[in-house]
Amino acid sequence: MKIAIIGAGIAGLSCANELNRLGFPSVIFEKTHMLGDKPGNLTAILRLFQKGFRNPMEYILNRCGMNISPLHPIKEMVVNTPNKILVSRANHGYVFIKGIAENSLEHQLASHSKMKILFDNEIDIKTIKSEFEHIVVATGSGDFARGLGIWNNTFASAVRIAVISGNFQVNTMTLWLNKNYSRNGFVYMLPKNPTEAELVMAVSDINKNDLDFYWKTFIKGEKLDYKILEIHDMNHCIGYPNAIRLENIYFVGNSGGMIDNFLGFGITRAIDSGILAARAIAQNLDFSKLMQPFIKDVKRLDEYRKMLNVLTNKDFDTDISILRLPVIKHLVYNNPLYKASFGLLAPKIIYTYKTYKNNLSLKFKK
Ligand SMILES: Cc1cc2nc3c(=O)[nH]c(=O)nc-3n(C[C@H](O)[C@H](O)[C@H](O)COP(=O)(O)OP(=O)(O)OC[C@H]3O[C@@H](n4cnc5c(N)ncnc54)[C@H](O)[C@@H]3O)c2cc1C
Repeated sequence: MKIAIIGAGIAGLSCANELNRLGFPSVIFEKTHMLGDKPGNLTAILRLFQKGFRNPMEYILNRCGMNISPLHPIKEMVVNTPNKILVSRANHGYVFIKGIAENSLEHQLASHSKMKILFDNEIDIKTIKSEFEHIVVATGSGDFARGLGIWNNTFASAVRIAVISGNFQVNTMTLWLNKNYSRNGFVYMLPKNPTEAELVMAVSDINKNDLDFYWKTFIKGEKLDYKILEIHDMNHCIGYPNAIRLENIYFVGNSGGMIDNFLGFGITRAIDSGILAARAIAQNLDFSKLMQPFIKDVKRLDEYRKMLNVLTNKDFDTDISILRLPVIKHLVYNNPLYKASFGLLAPKIIYTYKTYKNNLSLKFKK
C-alpha cells in the first residue's frame, strides 16, 4: 500500500511512526530542508483543561509506544490581568524544546522508527493524488482544505515570538490577559533556562505588520526590560475542515482542526490525530468516528473562546477569581452567554477549582 504524508511536523511524524509500528511504511514530503525548521523553540503541554491528563509522557507512551522527554515541568502559573495577578502552584504541565535542536520534540518523535522523509519537497495534493492510495495532510495549516473549499476559519491572529534574555524562574509559565495588549488574544512567557525565555504574543484580527503597536503597549504597560535576542512575526489562522476525511485524503493536526481556539494549543491532539489516521489506514477503520472525542474536545474549548471574546479588561480582573465560585456564579447569572455555556463549563471549573484551590494566591498589582 502506498501512503504519503505531507508535512514532517508533530502530526505527520506521529502518523509515520504508528504506520511503521503497524507494518505499513510511508513516505513523508517536507517542504523545509530539515526537521523543525520554523520559528519558536519552546512548547508547553498543559494539564489545564485536560481532565484526567496527568502526565503527557506517560499518555504518549501508552498511546503509541513513543518515549518523549520534557525540558522541565511547569510548577507555577502566573496569570496577569490588568490589575491583578493570580499565582497557582501545582503540576501544570511540561515545557518541551521544539525545532531543529537534537532534543526537540520533532527529533524525539522522528527517532522512534526509520522514516523516509523527502526534504525540500513542497507538495500539492493534486500532483501526488493518483500515485498514492492514502494521503495524510499534516501541513500545520488549513491551506489544502481551503483549496478544496471545505475550510472554516475560527480565529485569526498575528503572532510575535520573541526570544529574550534576563532572569527567569524556569518552572514558571506567565500569562497576560489584557485586551490592550492582545485584543481577544493573549501573551505568555515560557523560560528555557534561568537566563533565556520565549515570549509569545497572539493579537487577534490584525495583520502581522500591525504587531509593533501592541508589542510596545505590552512592554511599556508591564514595564519589561528584557533584552530581545530574536523576533519572528507570523499570521496565524486557526480553523477546521468540514470533513476530516475526503476519499483517500486524511486531515490531521492543525490541518484537521486539532489546534484549539482558546489558547492555540494543539500538540497532543496533533499526536493523537496522526496516530489515529495511521490506524484508520492500516486497519481499515472509520477515521471520523475515531476522531470524535478529539473533535468534541476542540469544540468544548470553542466555548471558552466565545467567553474570552466577550470579556472586558474589567471582567478579566473579576474573572481571575474564577476559581472562587461566587464570582463564577455572578458571571453565570448576569451574562446570557455564560448561562448558555455553563453546562459545558461547570464541570471543568469545578475540576480546576478542586485541583488548584490549595495552591492559589491572588494579589493586586502595585
Ligand atoms: C507560536 C506558536 C506557539 C505554540 N505553542 C504551543 C504550545 O505551547 N503548546 C501546544 O500544545 N501547542 C502550541 N502551538 C500549536 C502547535 O504548535 C501545533 O498545534 C502543532 O505543532 C501542530 O502540529 P502539525 O503537525 O499539525 O503542524 P506542524 O507541527 O506545524 O507541522 C507541519 C509541517 O508541514 C510542513 N509543510 C507545510 N506545508 C507543506 C507542503 N505543502 N508540503 C510539504 N510540507 C509542508 C511544515 O514545514 C511543517 O514541518 C503553538 C503554535 C504557534 C504558532
